Amino acid sequence: MIECKLPISAVAEILYCPRNFYYRVVEQAQDYNEHTLEGKFQEERREERSVQWRSDRKQHRKIYLDSELYKIAGTLDVVEEKEGLIYPVEYKKGELRNNLNDDVQVCCQALLLEEYLNQEINQGYIFYVESSSRRVVALSQELRELTIHTIEQGRCIIEEQILPDPVNDQRCNGCSLVERCLPQETAFIKEGTIKPRRPVPTANLGRVLYVDTPGAYLKKKDGRILLTKDKEIVKDIPMNAVDQIVLIGPVNISSQLLQELLKRSIPVHFGTTYGNYLGWLNPILSKNSILRLAQARTIDNSSKSLDLAKAFITGKLANMRTLLMRYNRSLKKGDITAVVEQLSKIIKKVATAKSKDVLLGYEGNGSKEYFKVFDSLLKNNDDFYFIGRNRRPPRDPINTMLSYGYTLLNKEVINELMRVGLDPYLGFYHSNLYGRPALALDMMEEFRAIIVDSAVLTAINTGMVNKDDFEISFERCQMTEKGRKALFQAYRNRINEEITHPIFEYKLSYRRIIELQARILAKVLTNELENYHAFLVR
Ligand code: SF4
Repeated sequence: MIECKLPISAVAEILYCPRNFYYRVVEQAQDYNEHTLEGKFQEERREERSVQWRSDRKQHRKIYLDSELYKIAGTLDVVEEKEGLIYPVEYKKGELRNNLNDDVQVCCQALLLEEYLNQEINQGYIFYVESSSRRVVALSQELRELTIHTIEQGRCIIEEQILPDPVNDQRCNGCSLVERCLPQETAFIKEGTIKPRRPVPTANLGRVLYVDTPGAYLKKKDGRILLTKDKEIVKDIPMNAVDQIVLIGPVNISSQLLQELLKRSIPVHFGTTYGNYLGWLNPILSKNSILRLAQARTIDNSSKSLDLAKAFITGKLANMRTLLMRYNRSLKKGDITAVVEQLSKIIKKVATAKSKDVLLGYEGNGSKEYFKVFDSLLKNNDDFYFIGRNRRPPRDPINTMLSYGYTLLNKEVINELMRVGLDPYLGFYHSNLYGRPALALDMMEEFRAIIVDSAVLTAINTGMVNKDDFEISFERCQMTEKGRKALFQAYRNRINEEITHPIFEYKLSYRRIIELQARILAKVLTNELENYHAFLVR
């Protein structure tokens, strides 16, 4: 048996759902939803003073204890002293209720106190914040035995490192791990059970603060983010209204704000005005080493790796094809119809590819066909024309917009991969070269056409950008600030647009679909699901 000390808060989760325990302890998941966040805020408010008198009781707050005997450890919300008695008080959000797992948590706390004080504790309490009432927990022999058995069960789960099956019942409704766990989606893919319900958003709502104004400065003030330019306040945003920040070009940010963002696990991404992604400042690399190991092992598994590469490229070509078909419903152009047919043939060949080199050839042919008719998708616009892809640097407005949009998408995919615990640099199709986010590039494939190309076409066809929004010098085309803002707008509209998921049939924004795909990929890498299917729009 292993000797690590189990966190007592997680021990209680075993009775509620062993899979929840696995995620929290083995994968070190710290996902929050509105319920757990509220509990966290209540806890922070209680932390303000370490010792307090409550009429006839003395309360000690936030006492960390560990036990050599039971190999458990944790922080006790409150230890109370009254008339010579001492006992733990656990605080819970919500109304007074009877929960065996809460009793086990109090029992764990009593076991810690007993060992520390070398005296027997006969009872503990649970205080329910919403109903402002407390319930006594008698530390019977039966409860003690159940608690010790549960601790042993937890140790077995850690030792075996096998993800327990989802409970997939009403317990999942308020679970903050539901988006990581995907109990209904997993059951649906594996067994074709009832269609999953639309997932409730977690604490991460995908709220992105983009700043691309040269000379802008971001700083922290009283729990808010102040965006200034020339010492004038341009924006004043509450810190808790932002989930990630993207800084493009010469934008400054104070070290105090960076520290606060790190504390709050809010990543900051940096890019250049030419559309190059420079990197990010992320609070910490995911603690989920098991998943990263599975990812690295899959790279060495040539057959599984090739299957994943095929899925990404099928997604790319099929979504290019769908985009062309959508535009051609009104355009009715023969050259587009011919390319659609050609793409269908190439997609069929992808399924038969025996190596990544062959796949590379199919991808190249498919992309060439697609971009051959890209110009036909522009609506009677004299300002713009497209003769083919060029980059590093892009030499015309459309290529400039495409490159810029792909950079934004790349940042988005990196963010979601990191959230899921995957390493964006270890890919299955793109070569794992130093400094190249190969997995992010892999996963971007299925979203390129339907997010970026679509946003670029919308920006041009609806007049959001015109030729004055671009400057060309020395064979390099750049967007003006107005042009960048317009493209941002088109991109943001697109990525936040809700679409019906073709398999699960609930509506999600494109941004959340990227996260969902990353989570499904993680399940394939850890063998919980057999195959990865790219997201294909209808
Ligand atoms: S979503 Fe359900 S199965 Fe998954 S961890 Fe939460 S309670 Fe357990």
